[in-house]
Amino acid sequence: MTRPATTAPHDATALEALALDLDPAHLRRAEPLAPYTTFKIGGPADLLYDATSADALATAVTAARAHGVPWFVLGLGANILVGDGGFRGLVIRNVARAHAIAPDGRLRAESGATMRDLVLDSVAQGWSGLEHYVGIPSTVGGALWQNLHFLSPAPERERTMFIAEVFESCEILAEEGDRRTVGPDYVQFGYDDSVFHHRRDVVLSATLRLEPGDPMALQRILQENLAWRGARHPWLEIHPSAGSIFKKIADVGAGRLVDQCGLKGFRVGGAAISHMHANIMVNLGGATARDVRALIAHAQEAVRERFGHALEPEIAFVGEFT
Ligand SMILES: Cc1cc2nc3c(=O)[nH]c(=O)nc-3n(C[C@H](O)[C@H](O)[C@H](O)COP(=O)(O)OP(=O)(O)OC[C@H]3O[C@@H](n4cnc5c(N)ncnc54)[C@H](O)[C@@H]3O)c2cc1C
Repeated sequence: MTRPATTAPHDATALEALALDLDPAHLRRAEPLAPYTTFKIGGPADLLYDATSADALATAVTAARAHGVPWFVLGLGANILVGDGGFRGLVIRNVARAHAIAPDGRLRAESGATMRDLVLDSVAQGWSGLEHYVGIPSTVGGALWQNLHFLSPAPERERTMFIAEVFESCEILAEEGDRRTVGPDYVQFGYDDSVFHHRRDVVLSATLRLEPGDPMALQRILQENLAWRGARHPWLEIHPSAGSIFKKIADVGAGRLVDQCGLKGFRVGGAAISHMHANIMVNLGGATARDVRALIAHAQEAVRERFGHALEPEIAFVGEFT
């Protein structure tokens, strides 16, 4: 079960002491979080800090822990709903994006590297393994947290592929405070799950293992996957969302159940269930977290009443909800 990111009360003195420990050039106060999420929803963080390297990420988390200030690591904000009240404490925006592919196909990336950059670079250099994830907004850290997945390759699309398949190891700042390198046994990838849902470890960097591929064939997969997504999912640029809202229900399909309740297009305030995909909720403009929560509750209730299934949110709820 996803461990929700929560904030606890903390004192203003601790917050100020923490702020003094962070590079002021990368620190903002009372910064609205909505622009840093794909849903474009969410109130302000007391402190928002841009971590531009894996070391800066580790240092910021360590400082927050030392001062007893609640903290949250933000990737591209593509799988979260931030509350309208925002986040009391420190949000660390992970923009540590260095990455390189070695001649043996090992891709080493800081955890703020975006899957977009990794997909494009690996395909351009003739390395296969990440082309399936084109078009999915994610950092490396978010991808490991969620075990990023997609129904690929075309044309059969019979198998869900997972980032776990190319994962070799990652360096973490462990809950206990030490830095260590861990492998698949530690990460325990599951469907929409990994150890990072259950422990307050932070992924600092990762090593992925790619295989040689034909650049033309890889380009074709990119195009096919983008076309497939474009035809079935609302476009993020037009309709901000957090992707699928509910976890998959094996052999049933969460979206199908919502659809069968006749809820496509159902709206609460500025939030609506997409006309294109019933498991995606979109921000039509000015949606609040409260709107989305009400929409989630409505869909859950409708599906429970009609089919007896309990829909479980896939996204993480971050900060204060009113
Ligand atoms: C349009 C759209 C389409 C999508 N399609 C797919 C899809 O096809 N398949 C799929 O699997 N997902 C999909 N998603 C969901 C989303 O893209 C993934 O879950 C993605 O991995 C989130 O990454 P992020 O960097 O945005 O993480 P965020 O949303 O910023 O964070 C998510 C969680 O990960 C934690 N986290 C982030 N970085 C770290 C780190 N370095 N260390 C520890 N914890 C960390 C955060 O604290 C938070 O709890 C989609 C989302 C959207 C908006």
